[in-house]
Amino acid sequence: MADEITAAPGRAPARLDWSYAPAPEATDHVKVRESYGLLIGGKWVAPLSGSHFKTINPATEEVLASVAEAGEEDVDAAVKAARAAYTKTWSKTSGAERAKYLYRIARVLQERAREFAVLETMNGGKPIKESRDVDVPLAAAHFFYHAGWADKLDYAFPGAPGPRPLGVAAQVIPWNFPLLMAAWKLAPALAAGNTVVLKPAETTPLTALLLGEVLQQAELPPGVVNIVTGAGQTGAALVAHPGVDKVAFTGSTEVGKAIQRTLAGSGKRLTLELGGKAANIVLDDAPVDQAVEGIINGIYFNQGHVCCAGSRLLVQESIAELLVGKLKRRMATLRVGDPLDKNTDVGAINSRAQLDRIEELVASGEADGAEVYQPPCDLPERGFWFRPTVFTGVAQSYRIAQEEIFGPVLSVLTFRTPDEAVEKANNTPYGLSAGVWTDKGSRILDLAGRLRAGVVWANTFNRFDPTSPFGGYKESGFGREGGRHGLAAYLDLT
Ligand code: NAP
Ligand code: MG
Repeated sequence: MADEITAAPGRAPARLDWSYAPAPEATDHVKVRESYGLLIGGKWVAPLSGSHFKTINPATEEVLASVAEAGEEDVDAAVKAARAAYTKTWSKTSGAERAKYLYRIARVLQERAREFAVLETMNGGKPIKESRDVDVPLAAAHFFYHAGWADKLDYAFPGAPGPRPLGVAAQVIPWNFPLLMAAWKLAPALAAGNTVVLKPAETTPLTALLLGEVLQQAELPPGVVNIVTGAGQTGAALVAHPGVDKVAFTGSTEVGKAIQRTLAGSGKRLTLELGGKAANIVLDDAPVDQAVEGIINGIYFNQGHVCCAGSRLLVQESIAELLVGKLKRRMATLRVGDPLDKNTDVGAINSRAQLDRIEELVASGEADGAEVYQPPCDLPERGFWFRPTVFTGVAQSYRIAQEEIFGPVLSVLTFRTPDEAVEKANNTPYGLSAGVWTDKGSRILDLAGRLRAGVVWANTFNRFDPTSPFGGYKESGFGREGGRHGLAAYLDLT
């Protein structure tokens, strides 16, 4: 933005340029290999399937590496390696010893934080300031936190006879927080004494593979963690494998339901962390400017690729006009573009397929009659991009009010009374998270108790901590991750 300012008499007008200079993060310290194998039994091996796929940078569409696509026989080898490591080593390793490995992994993650942050941004499209300040530090925090539990399991569940690990855990994770989801899954499983086969998402395998190198650097015994890359079929083969004792899945509700059907009657333990359509509720006594920041963070953080995103704004009618006006002005200041630029707020959409899905749902919102606003901004020519978007005049029946868009798209609805807000907030098949903005503690407690959501944030949004259990109700899944509850999902407490 260049502003013309009035010249003093006799002098030429000065132009003030308020735009940010480019501030790109360096990438030369990140060594991306041309081709990646599978981590099985402590070794990087070529896939028996013989096939590889390409992984790209969604901000440039440039190919970053070729990655092994694990077939059924590869998955079988990985599960067998995990079983052997469980029987021979890990189940005989004391909690105190397991803790040492977890601490070591956490410390190496911190040492190599910059490398992880840059690679996460290159492979997934999220702004470097998020991967640097959120994803990587939180991933390390999960290992630190669970290291603390590893030798205290007997005290974590008073009354339960000596907690025992389940055995081999199959873990399938999504592309929105590739490293962080790997940490959420691995840390409690290992602390509790299980071994693991991990399947990263097809579009974002690189930080999980780098984490595999870190596990070797930390000298984790071979086979305790195995990593099989591939697409949906690899995940399907893994969860269906008879050698698996526990399945932990994060991703779409559709795939979660399919996994539940596959596992029915198998005796395998299952936790599902699925989609969401969170209500972010702003009452008339809320601090409006603070709420605007929370709304922005709630929906535009990580391009809205967040299962707990505040994708439905419920605002009390008396302040709706004021709030939406301020929101639009704030949206216009968001910087969209190169995710590696330290000033970027909104990065690239993770994949062409996800961009298509966002575009389709936004078109449905316009066809239904909602009013759309997008601030003007220049988008790069290559790569996958979507402008921060807000819909007003949204009815509850519209698809944009019902379905998870998983993109930077906010739907605004209004309400008159807190009861109506609760009713509208709960009127969804999902129940993962919610936000409440108000000046009064009593209102927070009242609403939080009536919202059917696993997490309710008050006067903040998208806050995560390894000590705090996270998970859903209804079609958002079941089971909790984080805290003591998350640990219980990897233990036999009967
Ligand atoms: P997805 O297919 O559910 O992906 C999640 C993980 O499951 C990926 O590793 C995926 O592999 C794997 N997978 C796919 N089909 C499988 C199967 N039949 N059995 C076992 N594993 C399987 O999600 P998506 O297609 O990437 O995204 C679709 C929608 O899901 C998004 O638009 C969003 O609404 C929702 N989503 C939610 C979350 C969340 O955090 N709750 C995360 C991601 C997506 P591939 O990577 O090869 O597909
Ligand atoms: Mg998929």
